[in-house]
Amino acid sequence: MRKFVGIVSACALCLLATGGECALRVVTTTTDLAALTRAVGGEFVDVYAVAKGAQDPHYVAAKPSYIRQVNRADLLVYNGLELEVAWLPLLIEGARNRALTPGSAGLLDASEVVERLEIPRGDVDRSQGDIHPEGNPHYLLDPRNGVLVARLIADRIGQLDPDHAADYAAALTQFEADMARQIEGWELRLRATEDTSLLAFHRTWTYLAAWAGIRIANYIEEKPGIPPGPRHLASLVDQMATEGIRAIALAHYNPTRSGKALAERSGARLLVLPAAVEAFDDVAEYADLFDRIVSDLETVGRGTP
Ligand SMILES: [Zn+2]
Repeated sequence: MRKFVGIVSACALCLLATGGECALRVVTTTTDLAALTRAVGGEFVDVYAVAKGAQDPHYVAAKPSYIRQVNRADLLVYNGLELEVAWLPLLIEGARNRALTPGSAGLLDASEVVERLEIPRGDVDRSQGDIHPEGNPHYLLDPRNGVLVARLIADRIGQLDPDHAADYAAALTQFEADMARQIEGWELRLRATEDTSLLAFHRTWTYLAAWAGIRIANYIEEKPGIPPGPRHLASLVDQMATEGIRAIALAHYNPTRSGKALAERSGARLLVLPAAVEAFDDVAEYADLFDRIVSDLETVGRGTP
């Protein structure tokens, strides 16, 4: 009975908010997934992102306000490949939302449509650092994967809200066309940076590098999730000199101290790239991410000096 009352009042609220229609409530774990959901869901979805743009999505506190959002969700879209392993199970467990039981249509793992990179071979244990055993989870930094995920989300929200399935399909077609045009433009511009070697902080740019044709020569983190010691930093300075590495790529949420020190000692350019939608004010939509990243990479130039 209580549940019934809950549904009625939630619907009454959104009737007021949307002037007649009940929007599908979608919670996403990240701002990237929220942007893709908005792109295909338009006015018929109400989207809430748990991790904010400025945050490192590996580490998010399971706050009660997030649990309330997950509790009210019709659909929860998550990145998967263990990106959210430290906090999402706590939110789902705390939310006690029956729409989100394993295997139900209310739960969507966006990684199911992407080709994974860096799947570790052999046994994975904690001595290797904070490693992602199912493969690298940062796949949305390849814009082609964003298109695949947008299609997955459009299909699922169409299934949950069949009244607007045609709207979602039309928005998807538009999004796919926009992205195809923009991807072509970015790829043209990236020819100027082909084969450039970068040093990165974390394994954030694996998919980006594969798409953009750049090489990640090494990582500031000694192992994933583990900060560098002085010996590792010294060996990076040597490597940067011998291999002509001319830029260091940090994600906007990475600590900057070690990257700054390395840039000073090597003369390399320090790039603080947006790794998520809403990382910076001018990165409001999914495509903005690549506008900004491609522009920053263009400042580095091509090949080794
Ligand atoms: Zn990671």
